[in-house]
Amino acid sequence: MTHVDLYGIIRRVLELVSPYRLESSLYSIASEKWGFVMGTRGKKECSGCGEANGARAYNCKKCGNPFKMKNGAIRYSKRPIEDWTTLEEGDCIRVLSRSGDYYYKQNGDKVHWTTAGKYIVKSLTIDNEKGNCGICCYGLTNKNGGYHWLYMGKERPQEDSDISFHAPHKVVRIKDPRR
Ligand SMILES: [Zn+2]
Repeated sequence: MTHVDLYGIIRRVLELVSPYRLESSLYSIASEKWGFVMGTRGKKECSGCGEANGARAYNCKKCGNPFKMKNGAIRYSKRPIEDWTTLEEGDCIRVLSRSGDYYYKQNGDKVHWTTAGKYIVKSLTIDNEKGNCGICCYGLTNKNGGYHWLYMGKERPQEDSDISFHAPHKVVRIKDPRR
């Protein structure tokens, strides 16, 4: 009968994997699978907004700022920005299709005004009292050229209209396409 020294095997594996690497990989597996948070260990802070993010995040979950990877690569998220007020002049964004102000056609079709595509941020309008919040920006392509104001407040009917609505735009942070 062969005796399997399970404990010995495990110990050898643990010796091969450094304690730190083992711990951090366990952490990332747990955090990815169950949203597990273990103190502040394995967290990194966003230089843009200060939000604590997971060690393996490649961009900030709050403002969408990309983190520089160890190999120097920068990856932008495809997810819309959670907090658009973190945008600054010169930041480039993509407006997703079927987002922003819209109206209903007679046949019931929903039509969005804003052309999906790339824009560069000029400034932000933050008027929480009237709810007139938005992004002043310029279109970066032939299709959306010129000055735009993208509504970012809460969804609500437009004044004096039953078929037109203000609705926040879905905005994704992108690399400057002109560089
Ligand atoms: Zn951030």
